[in-house]
Amino acid sequence: MLNCHCRDCQRASGAPFASGIVVRTADLKTSHAPSTYSVSGSSGQATIRSFCGSCGSPLFTRGESNPDFTSIRFPTLDDTSTFRPMLDIWTSRATQWTCFDPGIPQFPQSP
Ligand SMILES: [Zn+2]
Repeated sequence: MLNCHCRDCQRASGAPFASGIVVRTADLKTSHAPSTYSVSGSSGQATIRSFCGSCGSPLFTRGESNPDFTSIRFPTLDDTSTFRPMLDIWTSRATQWTCFDPGIPQFPQSP
């Protein structure tokens, strides 16, 4: 579970950072094919973002630089109270007013 502060996640989420749960792409099963779009990610390679075609809620993010892993986006969780971020990434792009949990490791870019 992580918070990403990169500009692409800021744009996609409409917020200072995007939160998600990273899982192995091979372990992810979906019942419907989500709508997708592709952007140039912070790595310079494509990032595929999935969203609900009905309500627009973000669903998944997968970077072509590391396709074996997919981030399940925080807004998809039925129970958000169980979400506990374990790290903050791309903090070099974080807003000056973002509050960080001092007990969570921070990485200026993606570790
Ligand atoms: Zn990001």
